[in-house]
Amino acid sequence: MRRTRHDPRYEVLPGTCKLCPNKVVYQQAAGADTRMATYRACRSCDFWLTCLGYMMLGDQDPDGRRVLRIDGRHYLTWTKDQGLPPEIGYAGSWVLHYTLLDDPRETVHATEEVWLMGTIPDHFRARMPDNAVFVPPG
Ligand SMILES: [Zn+2]
Repeated sequence: MRRTRHDPRYEVLPGTCKLCPNKVVYQQAAGADTRMATYRACRSCDFWLTCLGYMMLGDQDPDGRRVLRIDGRHYLTWTKDQGLPPEIGYAGSWVLHYTLLDDPRETVHATEEVWLMGTIPDHFRARMPDNAVFVPPG
């Protein structure tokens, strides 16, 4: 039987994530290794810490794409000029109408460029409250 060789890009560190019960997995990708070693956060929490960082940038990513948090789900929208986020996994092809909760005029925005990044885990929800609501079309 052949043994699988150790892959240095993927390694479980001793101990668990500081933020959840997951084991901490070390990955040499996109600078995540350094962050994860520093913060002792698992891959999932590292992802959500990045999203928390977007919130601290004023609900946008470093390139200005808009963050929406609706019903506990995290979305990223962008303009054609801004282009796709570099880390895009999947982009929806539906038109999304929304208003921002801190907009007293309740301006309805429409976008076709939207990435559903996932449901915000319970242990991040308190720090990442909704900032928008869907508006039914029409
Ligand atoms: Zn974690």
